[in-house]
Amino acid sequence: MIIILIGAPACGKGTQAELLKEKYALRHISTGDLLRAEISKNTPLGEDIAKLINNGNLVPDDMILGLLNNALKMKGKGIVLDGFPRTLTQAKLLRGIVKDQGEKIRAVVNFTLAEEEVVQRIIYRRQCRHCGNIFSVRFVKNFDGHCPKCDSTDIYQRADDTETSARHRLEIYKKETEPVKEFFKEKTYYMQTDGNRPVQEIFKDISSFIERK
Ligand code: AMP
Repeated sequence: MIIILIGAPACGKGTQAELLKEKYALRHISTGDLLRAEISKNTPLGEDIAKLINNGNLVPDDMILGLLNNALKMKGKGIVLDGFPRTLTQAKLLRGIVKDQGEKIRAVVNFTLAEEEVVQRIIYRRQCRHCGNIFSVRFVKNFDGHCPKCDSTDIYQRADDTETSARHRLEIYKKETEPVKEFFKEKTYYMQTDGNRPVQEIFKDISSFIERK
């Protein structure tokens, strides 16, 4: 089973990918996470990637494909792709890889979200280093720097989660990633979901779509 999640930054792809991973025993592949893992190795490649990401630019297709090379070998286990493909070139390459491996795409889920909501989600997003919890300080009453889940004070904000970067990422999204939506739109496995709803409601929609007869 191959499930592809597309949509603007902070639209909820990562959250839904984790839920789908648990429910359908999939591998969750997030290109953003793979890139951040490369950055944390402090290699020259990592430094180049950091410059691109922190300014809100996309990483070139060949670099992404290089990183994904092994991860995309399906080996019988299904995958949920979060943040890939983000360009038409990546979409076409993925279609080829899926075909070559004799696999099938089960769903392409496109999350819709108003632009201002995207920006608000990005600038208020924080993550806890201790338990990995990703949360919005918008919804934590009297936020005092503690993680609402585990109470740790080891909280950080992603370097690319600034307002300037958020607005730039939205422009890139419209230019580079909207065509990916068009590429899949006519397929029977394409669905669109309103990303501005409770997590469980969205999850229910996606699950019913996947399990439809
Ligand atoms: P994400 O964690 O999905 O928000 O991704 C963070 C950043 O990583 C993006 O803003 C891009 O700079 C880069 N990135 C992630 N996935 C891709 C991709 N498929 N193609 C190019 N750049 C990517």
